[in-house]
Amino acid sequence: MSQQIVVAECRDGQLRRVTLEAIAAAKGCMADGDRLAVVLPLGGAAAAADARAAEALAQCGVDEVIVVDHPVLGRYAPDTHVAALLAAACVHAPKARWWLGHTAIGRDLAPRLAARLGAGQISDAIAAARGGDGRIAFARALHAGKALEQRAFLSDAPTVVTVRPGNFPPAEALAGDAAPIRLVPFDPPESRIVVRDIVRRLTGTVDLAEARIVVAGGRGVKDAAGFGPLAELAALLGGAVGASRGACDAGYCDYALQIGQTGKTVTPDLYIACGISGAVQHLAGMSRSRVIVAINKDPDAPIFAVADYGIVGDLFDVVPALIAELSTV
Ligand code: FAD
Repeated sequence: MSQQIVVAECRDGQLRRVTLEAIAAAKGCMADGDRLAVVLPLGGAAAAADARAAEALAQCGVDEVIVVDHPVLGRYAPDTHVAALLAAACVHAPKARWWLGHTAIGRDLAPRLAARLGAGQISDAIAAARGGDGRIAFARALHAGKALEQRAFLSDAPTVVTVRPGNFPPAEALAGDAAPIRLVPFDPPESRIVVRDIVRRLTGTVDLAEARIVVAGGRGVKDAAGFGPLAELAALLGGAVGASRGACDAGYCDYALQIGQTGKTVTPDLYIACGISGAVQHLAGMSRSRVIVAINKDPDAPIFAVADYGIVGDLFDVVPALIAELSTV
């Protein structure tokens, strides 16, 4: 029997979708008799909303929700969060397999946690499965998505895994009894890090990394004002706006929107690339999108090689036409 622990993440009182995806990934690797717990660190001003997230997690077919509640956990700081997870681990098998979202926080926490537990680590997994030999196999994309790496761990080897958002179907709420929610006492260590403030960049209402629809602009958008119609289209579709590095470097938009090898990795259901040539560094961040639509006036643009639907045309004609069409729906 092995223990699986998913580390839950909330943002503004909302459970992040990648937490539900991590639960599904963990379930997919479980054998009969394995147990699945979810740890939710919470505290501070958002604690009440986060506590509702604990109730939602308890309905997701897990065995237990472990809440580590302390005001210092209201703001992410690596040392206190690692200590909170270790407090949760103490009451559970330290040899557990841990699952986190490959988010800014997950990426920061996972190696620290693995080092403290003496566990192996897999970053940015896009697939995970239990093999016939009982080993757990993980796949990761390498070299800007051009190669896939497979790694297998013994099923009882302590492992810390981060899963790329958008690559596993999210666990759904199940009818029936909710799992118990257990509160774990936490005495935080003296922190060497003081988080004084968090300044959010205004990048739209939908989180780009988890958006199911992304409308991205490149240098072809010409200037910052050119992103206006893209934002309008994204809002109509309930999606988020992204960008190529070309557009960010040109100052058309914030680097927080950059998608690609040195930007965010997205795996939406629909990716609409507007005026983006399709450089390999850009493809590294979006080529696993389920459906790719490319709008480019150059019929030989490399983006068309990965697109499911290509529109050869001027984005300043095509995007308004799409907006007009969708506005009537
Ligand atoms: P361009 O290559 O200039 O393409 C603009 C496109 O717009 C062209 O295809 C053109 O035909 C089209 N166009 C122009 N006007 C219109 C119009 N009116 N209507 C329709 N189409 C139009 N890039 C990233 O995106 N993300 C990264 O993370 C990233 N990391 C990098 C890391 C390294 C180490 C390096 C070296 C580069 C990286 N790059 C990255 C940069 C990458 O190589 C490209 O330079 C960049 O992606 C190009 O951006 P673009 O497609 O917007 O611009």
